[in-house]
Amino acid sequence: MTDAAETCIKVVCRFRPLNSAELARGDKYIPKFQGDDCVQIAGKPYYFDHVFQSNTTQEQFYNAVAQKIVKDVLEGYNGTIFAYGQTSSGKTHTMEGKLHDADMMGVIPRIVQDIFNYIYSMDQNLEFHIKVSYFEVYLDKIKDLLDVTKTNLSVHEDKNRVPYLTGNCVSACMWLFVCVHTCMSDMNEHSSRSHSIFLINIKQENTQTGHTLTGKLYLVDLAGSEKVGKTGAEGTVLDEAKMINKSLSSLGIVISALAEGSSYVPYRDSKMTRILQDSLGGNCRTTMVICCSPSSFNDAETRTTLQFGQRAK
Ligand code: ADP
Ligand code: MG
Repeated sequence: MTDAAETCIKVVCRFRPLNSAELARGDKYIPKFQGDDCVQIAGKPYYFDHVFQSNTTQEQFYNAVAQKIVKDVLEGYNGTIFAYGQTSSGKTHTMEGKLHDADMMGVIPRIVQDIFNYIYSMDQNLEFHIKVSYFEVYLDKIKDLLDVTKTNLSVHEDKNRVPYLTGNCVSACMWLFVCVHTCMSDMNEHSSRSHSIFLINIKQENTQTGHTLTGKLYLVDLAGSEKVGKTGAEGTVLDEAKMINKSLSSLGIVISALAEGSSYVPYRDSKMTRILQDSLGGNCRTTMVICCSPSSFNDAETRTTLQFGQRAK
């Protein structure tokens, strides 16, 4: 693959297996896979950079999708990995998985591991400064999950108009582990209706030459993309649905503008795209993971989800 192809936005698709409730109900397994980049639903093909079938292990997925991005971030690039899909399609399984289980760990704990292995393999003259932040965007408000007293953080801009957040950053290596393990196992009750954003900032400094290299990686578990039924939704539920819909559609618009190489990219239309602005498109490594249920019961949502992924291509 050429460098030019590597810098473009990648969209991959992952199907989970049927779960026990779906099997008990007698749901059908609807996807038909063709090669490693196409899935058909009722004869209609959807193409991606890669399609992962239901039996893909966490390790296989990580090696194929995330490992290279970590390498690039350690070389000074910025990157973002999103998980998009309806609730229970496998987003959190993909991004977090089971934190203490070597086989079932998802992308985030594997990334943390890889970063540590890298640090230990490097020579003594390199000093690493690592900061992690963990935010939640809910009803377009940003909450710091490392400091629950901060519930509405502002997006600031630095002198180069690069957006940043003033939240809690946890520095030093060990904290990275501690934080991944404590924060993530403590997901709040509306996690399916909020976006969670895990940020790893890595600065490497050569203590002899003074040369520094900085890269950052956003890992985003998006709010469930399902449509809320028009009848019955009111109050908070309706506000949530509208806000999720708006933020996911502005994300889709930004990603497709970047994929098309369009000169205008509307980052400012939602808080999330503002936060992620300097880690999307351009020189950055951006990957969207489209998570899908294979069940006939979720047929309509799955097609809408696949359609969203196609538009981002
Ligand atoms: P989401 O975050 O999209 O709402 P989850 O990741 O919580 O969905 O997945 C819903 C359920 O399905 C969880 O119990 C999860 O362990 C299981 N699951 C999701 N993806 C897979 C997969 N690829 N293989 C096995 N189980 C999965
Ligand atoms: Mg989830």
